[in-house]
Amino acid sequence: MFWRFSFFLAWQLAGGSLGWWQAGAWGAALGAAVAAWIWFILDMLRGARALRWLRSGDMAKAPSMSGMWGEGVERTCRLVRQQEERAKESQNRLQEILAALQASPNGVVLLDSQGRIEWCNEMAAAQFGFDARNDAMQSIRYLVRDPEFSAYYAAQDFSSDVVLEGRASTPSRPVRISVQLHPYGNGRSLLLSRDVTALEQAEAMRRDFVANVSHEIRTPLTVLMGFVETLQTLPLNPQERSRYLDMMAQQAARMQSVVQDLLTLSRLEGSPLPGTGEWTPVQTLLQRCEVEGRALSGLLARNQPRQHEWEFPEPAGLSAAGEIAGVPAELQSALSNLVSNAVRYTPAGGRIVVRWQDLPDGGAVFSVSDTGPGIAPEHVPRLTERFYRVDRSRSRETGGTGLGLAIVKHVLQRHGATLEIESVLGKGSTFRVRFPASRLRRPVPGTSLNAVAASH
Ligand code: ADP
Repeated sequence: MFWRFSFFLAWQLAGGSLGWWQAGAWGAALGAAVAAWIWFILDMLRGARALRWLRSGDMAKAPSMSGMWGEGVERTCRLVRQQEERAKESQNRLQEILAALQASPNGVVLLDSQGRIEWCNEMAAAQFGFDARNDAMQSIRYLVRDPEFSAYYAAQDFSSDVVLEGRASTPSRPVRISVQLHPYGNGRSLLLSRDVTALEQAEAMRRDFVANVSHEIRTPLTVLMGFVETLQTLPLNPQERSRYLDMMAQQAARMQSVVQDLLTLSRLEGSPLPGTGEWTPVQTLLQRCEVEGRALSGLLARNQPRQHEWEFPEPAGLSAAGEIAGVPAELQSALSNLVSNAVRYTPAGGRIVVRWQDLPDGGAVFSVSDTGPGIAPEHVPRLTERFYRVDRSRSRETGGTGLGLAIVKHVLQRHGATLEIESVLGKGSTFRVRFPASRLRRPVPGTSLNAVAASH
């Protein structure tokens, strides 16, 4: 301001001096006035230039000026640059927040005060079938037309969620989505959606499981109660009495097996994963399978004209199969279970082949093949479900609980092994257990297994 004023005075002084030199006192006054006007017009032109630039809004073409107008232009440029940087920073932060919301495994939709979609992530778009770009600013009420959601939105009570069917839902693969609105700010709301299909399935499985357990226990219990009532009310001779008591014992044994298998399952679920500290010879496991299999076969086919035909691995070959790491009782129960299933479902006279094969990758396969009734393909994937039975009466007749393969699968999972089932209806089935190399050790020729153990 000081320089501007000094410059103006100097300008007038120069005009006045020129006028004085030309025409004395009157000349000086005229010279000063003319100089002031020239200064004023030049200043106006500079101001108009700065204004024209401001109106154009093109910050890159700032006029280069000096003095007060120059400072004004420069300060304006600096301010605009600062604002731009701040806006860029906010934009970056917004993009980061949106990227985080985009990465969310749940659906996120931002709604304005009118319930219109301002933004949604890809998960929400997939779950609701939105087009993230084209459906922006469309009302959520028109896009999500499920009656449950309409009622939920109309009630305006968002304290709980509402479960809807996902857009990708098909009869064979249902998808269920939990949706909840969370109001915030000036009437805006955040809509969160979550895939609860697995949760609902687990809940349905739990309900089925409880219903199945109740059914499995209630049936023998009802029969047992009937016998008790008979014993209490009817005068029976000693033979009849003993026959009734036998039947009661059978029912009690059935209940006991179900409870025992349930306890085994819950124990398996609750216990820590077996390590590789305990080794059992494969030979021991397989010989036990043979003893148990033959005994069960003898029991079931005792009144039949023909017995089962068996094929077991040679004990000599098994001694070379080495040892397996895990809980011996669990491994034994899983392998024996497959053998006992083959015995129970294969009619007398049928052939059962048990094998142990080493794999080139260091793993091994235990397999049980039978010439029993086989299993239709639609049942195969469900055999390891709890209480799933293809042949209910055969299962019960032979003391099955429907939990055997569920226990086998659990034990194998815990030991890093897998179960493969191959079956042809009317021809027979093969149950294969694949053990990983990490759970097996074999004697190296010339060394003992203890030496191998030391190197592990
Ligand atoms: P269960 O106690 O009923 O035998 P499992 O879980 O051991 O229960 O087996 C489930 C079902 O799988 C059985 O009910 C039976 O229908 C079928 N199954 C199992 N093993 C065989 C087999 N070797 N041959 C034919 N069907 C089998």
